[in-house]
Amino acid sequence: MGVKRRPSTFVLKVNPILCDGFGHCAELAPELVNVDEWGYPIIRQEPTKINNAGAYESAKYAVRGCPRQALQIEKITDAQP
Ligand code: SF4
Repeated sequence: MGVKRRPSTFVLKVNPILCDGFGHCAELAPELVNVDEWGYPIIRQEPTKINNAGAYESAKYAVRGCPRQALQIEKITDAQP
């Protein structure tokens, strides 16, 4: 009987093969995504707290709004002590 841990942070991941580089995700989640000079996303690498509701909602908007379905949210559960 273990304690089930919930993920506490997340990162946004992009599949560079699918991405078309039009940068729509940076408009939907500006706190998580910048774009490079060609329009391809530069995604924040540091995990973001899931309880940061604004950032988490933005990440979900970006995933839903990506025309190439190139984005996903990776949830991270803290390591067991
Ligand atoms: S919205 Fe999707 S396809 Fe467009 S730049 Fe972002 S990850 Fe790439």
